[in-house]
Amino acid sequence: MTDLQTPAREAVTGPSLPGLVEGYATLPDRFHARALPEPVSAPMLIKLNEALAYELRLDLGGFATDDLAALFSGNAVSASSRPIAMAYAGHQFGNFVPQLGDGRAILLGEVTDIHGRRRDIQLKGSGQTAFSRGGDGRAAIGPVLREYIVSEAMAALGVPTTRSLATVATGDPVYREQRLPGAILTRVAASHVRIGTFQYFAARGDTDGVKILADHVIARLYPALAQGADRYAALFAAVVNAQADLIARWMHLGFIHGVMNTDNMAISGETIDYGPCAFMDAYDPATVFSSIDQYGRYAFANQPPIGQWNLARFAETLLPLFSENQDAAVERAQSILGEFKPRFEETFLKGMRAKLGLLTEREEDGALARGLFDTMAKGGADFTLTFRSLGDDVLALADGTANGKTRALFSDPAAFDAWAALWRDRLAQEPGDASARRAAMNAVNPKYIPRNHRVEAVIAAAVDQGDYQPFEELLAVVTKPFDEQPDMAAYAEPPQMHERVLQTFCGT
Ligand code: AMP
Ligand code: MG
Repeated sequence: MTDLQTPAREAVTGPSLPGLVEGYATLPDRFHARALPEPVSAPMLIKLNEALAYELRLDLGGFATDDLAALFSGNAVSASSRPIAMAYAGHQFGNFVPQLGDGRAILLGEVTDIHGRRRDIQLKGSGQTAFSRGGDGRAAIGPVLREYIVSEAMAALGVPTTRSLATVATGDPVYREQRLPGAILTRVAASHVRIGTFQYFAARGDTDGVKILADHVIARLYPALAQGADRYAALFAAVVNAQADLIARWMHLGFIHGVMNTDNMAISGETIDYGPCAFMDAYDPATVFSSIDQYGRYAFANQPPIGQWNLARFAETLLPLFSENQDAAVERAQSILGEFKPRFEETFLKGMRAKLGLLTEREEDGALARGLFDTMAKGGADFTLTFRSLGDDVLALADGTANGKTRALFSDPAAFDAWAALWRDRLAQEPGDASARRAAMNAVNPKYIPRNHRVEAVIAAAVDQGDYQPFEELLAVVTKPFDEQPDMAAYAEPPQMHERVLQTFCGT
């Protein structure tokens, strides 16, 4: 980057991450700014995700705890790493900002995992970069623990997501509304390229940059498309599908991302940038948690249309690659973008059938699912408990002697009974026995999600007492979301009135 000041610092040598190579750093200089992590005073390893380290072929067995703390705090930079901050732009709450970039994240490089896939390794909260715009480049422990728990829960739920490899307490305070302990998260992604990365080059009229970036993500994320003559349109179509599927998965689980700015939407189709994200307790489609989302732009029910809006911004950056003829390019973009809604609805309905225990497809299934959501909204029913409990109801309904327990989750149980009668009729047309159906439903309807009041309690223990035991316990529970775990049943419970968390805050 020529127009940006890169903080001058010396790299410290020490332990190195095995297998780490430069990745994005090999793209032209205007794609990134060199950025060395700023050393921290007293790095302490809070958590290393050993299963993920194994998957990434990071053999860390021989490392002392201090070496791990040095590596995952950025106090030691691997010899093979060329750390960078990535350049990107983005629409934030609808307003375009031509330059954002990694203001508190540093990409160390990439590794090849046991499946042969390339994975980025990034530190988040590791100090100022050329893109910090007055921010301190640091992260407080709360958002770091939230991201660790929620991203790992999402992975266990089968939702595409960035992963959390490690977290380190820095020993240095960060100053937000109050003084808080600082921490660093090591994040792993198939790629950190966002819609905003494309916008960065498009906004500068740098069509060549857009093309280099498109070729990079095709090679990295969608290699099957590389040979096609129409590969940029195929890339756009692939991202439309990936995002439609991703958002449908969120909607199956009551997940609210919270800041669906175009810089927080990954080309890989992974959930990225867990800021004020949260899972709903009682179902209400208008739910917003983020303290900065004053108008509910990123409310639960708005996520599919916002996804489509963001993809339209992506398409705009690709138009010159679609065709030299602008009208033809726009037409191409619109026809592909038109696939978002049907794809979303198809994936959503497919998942809803599984959640309701249906193996066959009937015309009326969409209406049946909508009917349940309407009843849940009116009855203030807990999202996660309702679906999980339907699995048990299957047994009660099958012998016709009882109504099941789900009805008790609704303020008006009779309204649920009316819906359940339709569901029972629909189940009567299905093959398979009740216990197999229950098992199949329990494999898609989690018992445990990282409930917001639990996440907040984990953060409070870490901040107030330096106690990470609650973090360990919650993490262990939510990374086996479909297992009964009878000893942990309290974690399945919604918050009591006084425990409810109504607002979450960004990492900034
Ligand atoms: P986010 O809200 O995490 O998506 O971040 C939006 C933008 O603000 C990105 O460019 C971030 O890198 C930047 N940013 C967020 N927090 C900080 C911070 N503490 N210091 C510097 N930049 C930050
Ligand atoms: Mg972001």
